[in-house]
Amino acid sequence: MCGIVGIIGKEAVSDALVEGLARLEYRGYDSAGIATIAEGRLDRRRAVGKLSALRSVLHDSPLPGVVGIGHTRWATHGAPTTANAHPHAGERVAVVHNGIIENFADLRADLSAHGMNFESETDTETVAKLIAQKLGAGQPPREAFAASLGQLEGAFALAVLIEDEPETLYVARRGSPLAIGRGQGEMFVGSDAYALAPFTNKVTYLADGDWAIVTRQGMEVFDSAGAPVKRDEKLSDASAALVDKGEHRHFMAKEIHEQPEVISHTLAAYIDPVARQVRLPDEGIDFSAISAITLSACGTAYYAAQTAKYWFETFAQLPVEHDIASELRYRDVPYREGGAALLISQSGETADTLAALRDAKEAGQKIGAIVNVPESTIAREADALYPTYAGPEIGVASTKAFTCQLATLACLAIGAGRARGVLSAEEEQALVTALLEVPRPITADHYAARSKEEKAAELERAPD
Ligand code: GLU
Repeated sequence: MCGIVGIIGKEAVSDALVEGLARLEYRGYDSAGIATIAEGRLDRRRAVGKLSALRSVLHDSPLPGVVGIGHTRWATHGAPTTANAHPHAGERVAVVHNGIIENFADLRADLSAHGMNFESETDTETVAKLIAQKLGAGQPPREAFAASLGQLEGAFALAVLIEDEPETLYVARRGSPLAIGRGQGEMFVGSDAYALAPFTNKVTYLADGDWAIVTRQGMEVFDSAGAPVKRDEKLSDASAALVDKGEHRHFMAKEIHEQPEVISHTLAAYIDPVARQVRLPDEGIDFSAISAITLSACGTAYYAAQTAKYWFETFAQLPVEHDIASELRYRDVPYREGGAALLISQSGETADTLAALRDAKEAGQKIGAIVNVPESTIAREADALYPTYAGPEIGVASTKAFTCQLATLACLAIGAGRARGVLSAEEEQALVTALLEVPRPITADHYAARSKEEKAAELERAPD
């Protein structure tokens, strides 16, 4: 949930890149940066914090160049520092990236063994160094980019600039969204049509798994198997609303496709991907000391509660009671002393869930809130806040908010299990590794490939 912008422009692009990034601010970010090519040389500027910090760096040290890429980062691998901010660089290459490269540790170890030095803690830098290694070995940019993509596992979007071809953007989409915009003798890439809105309304959405070579003349798009494909150009109406449906017919379809990205961000809030450990906030609930858990919610969020019961029992050996909030609030629940109640709500305003919270609080329970809106009433009245990072959910049937609730609850159950000594360090690592892999199998591309392969077997198994 952060942003990518790229421009092949007619005049200096640094201001326009920052303007595009500003349109993506609604997705949240902790740092930002841009890179441009001027006189055949790549250069970049980065800053921690708001775009105003980047603007002031650019004011003091302007960046010429009519071709560039920009990024707002929401850190998953490494703290929000200038060194970890994007674009990341390798010899003759700059990369911006949203999402997660799952196998970055193996790639990084291999590249380090071949003499590559790293200057950040990010997974992204391995992509820059991987492409640089292939360019260094004499591969042309197109091959170096395509071959590098073939080595990456994870759910991500990428935009890459290479000095050898100073008027070309290499982009890829796997799980995270990416769109290409066509102007008059100019081309643009962006995380969504909203980022492109200041420049053009002629937008081509890459399908999941696609990659593309964008030049001033247009674009060549390839599918995940490397076959050339044509994707339709659409006229976008992104300027009309902050939340638009993008390439999708319904908000629900859009929200389903956002899952790899928003689950990545939710997991990133609770997991240290390098140590493969869960990190829960210190304040609020001490899971090592509680006696039992009560889970409560309404509607779809209650399904998350029902699922999480198994996790808290299995991983943390905690007695779990759950009930739909509209029942719980009217029951005379014999809460255990020293227990905690976890309330789950997308909006954080669900009236029955709020009433159940107040009831449990009155009975002396520690209160944890799993909500998508951190300013909400349920969040404010809780002892501990465990946000989900699903972004706005417009569709009435909950999709991404539900799966982000599951991601958060899984982290809480693992964290509780570790705190209570039920899980060993190795078991925690194995569970965290499995969780970090979740965004990839739910990308549309992965699903399509799998369903093709398994279709026959699925039909076989299906009941008549
Ligand atoms: N995983 C990358 C990082 O931590 C990209 C995060 C993002 O999507 O902004 O830098």
